[in-house]
Amino acid sequence: MEGAGVQICRTIGYQDVRVDPFLMLDELRLPAEKAAAGFPSHPHRGFETCTIMKSGKMEHKDSVGNQGVICPGGVQWMTAGRGIIHSEMPVVTSGDLHGFQLWINLPAKDKMIKPWYQDVQESDIPVVYIHGKESESTVRVMAGTVQDVSGPLKLRNPGLLFDVSLGAEEEWAYEIPNGWNGFCYVYEGTGFLGEQPVEPRHAYIFERDANQNTLHAKAGSGPLKFLLIAGKPINEPIVQYGPFVMNHELEIRQAFDDYRNGTLQNAHDDVWTEN
Ligand code: FE
Repeated sequence: MEGAGVQICRTIGYQDVRVDPFLMLDELRLPAEKAAAGFPSHPHRGFETCTIMKSGKMEHKDSVGNQGVICPGGVQWMTAGRGIIHSEMPVVTSGDLHGFQLWINLPAKDKMIKPWYQDVQESDIPVVYIHGKESESTVRVMAGTVQDVSGPLKLRNPGLLFDVSLGAEEEWAYEIPNGWNGFCYVYEGTGFLGEQPVEPRHAYIFERDANQNTLHAKAGSGPLKFLLIAGKPINEPIVQYGPFVMNHELEIRQAFDDYRNGTLQNAHDDVWTEN
């Protein structure tokens, strides 16, 4: 359970499972009537969040007046930097709310930067037909590059973020840049990632020790849908206390002090208009 009692499925970020620079991945998939509680006002400092909506909408408001709605197929990349206090509330009257939230760490030099939002609508995200138009296999490129097509999100730390859909029995191989960490999160269908049979709610983490740079994916008898997420590791100490992710214990105490004193978020940061 997260927020005001919303059931989520957490793979990365559960106990000590992290894939540097990624701290957490949650999938929200629940009927409209169970999603209403949402995520009332809460703070973030020291990292970035990325919200990907598949169905239903998420309304976002922060404590200095920025607001927006993430629509189906849309993505919001939020660089919390030195501090954001916000609410994320589902807007769904029928059907399922379905989306993901990814937490991405920031390196020490960027943890206290000015907050920044990138809002990307479904129509801004290129869809690459990886085996030509006669095939159903597609990659929605949110960040990074597939077959010379690049996604709209600008990442501070080099990385990629794909929504992959393979048609029944189809295969795909993708080479991850050398030295990056990565994982896949399956949200529909069955098949294989590498040698591993996978099903929904499975995360498949690349084994860097095995020098594994190429992801091999194969759909089973129906389509296989998964997120592919990879990035350059930050390799710094992590001290996390809930929504504050810093390098040292003292910085966590500072974050709590700033939150209590009302100085976590700076009202003069009008970040929404700078996109
Ligand atoms: Fe949040």
